Amino acid sequence: MMKLSSHDALLVVDVQNDFLPGGALPVGEGDAVIPVINRLSALPFGTVVATQDWHPPTHCSFREQGGQWPTHCVAGTTGAELASGLDQRHVALILRKGLSPSADSYSAFRDNSGAATTGLEGWLRAMGMARVFVTGLALDVCVTETARDAQKAGFATLVVEDACRGIASGADATKELRKAGIPLLLSAELGA
Ligand SMILES: [Zn+2]
Repeated sequence: MMKLSSHDALLVVDVQNDFLPGGALPVGEGDAVIPVINRLSALPFGTVVATQDWHPPTHCSFREQGGQWPTHCVAGTTGAELASGLDQRHVALILRKGLSPSADSYSAFRDNSGAATTGLEGWLRAMGMARVFVTGLALDVCVTETARDAQKAGFATLVVEDACRGIASGADATKELRKAGIPLLLSAELGA
């Protein structure tokens, strides 16, 4: 069993209504991560951060604007809200990303161009965090990009595999993470 300390952060990426079955950009079995993340968040992490994709109505990632995705997670809508089943009692920070109409932000640390940071790296450091456990949706997009940037920022970074679901098949995403030197583990290995 892997032991947690007060220097370990739990990152909960984009567990929002629009990414759940029935939402605007549903991730298959996206709702299955909720009970797993709820069990994880009750463990002795130093802090828990939840992110929200939070777009203006004319965001560049939307198809009407020539982007790749259906309209999703429009700021202030029900679709952009965190899943109602998500236990937020231990969430210290809710970080919103993708607010600029002209830039997307898969990673919780920066926009896709790398031009703007979200401040998360500094916040985690100020909180004394050394290790980051990444969970949420979608594994092959925002979870992977967030994990890569956490590692790049110098945090020991792991992905909790059963606390994630992907848009495409999980096999490619997990292979890519392993190739990047980011270990995957199961929530049971943390005692959740
Ligand atoms: Zn988005």
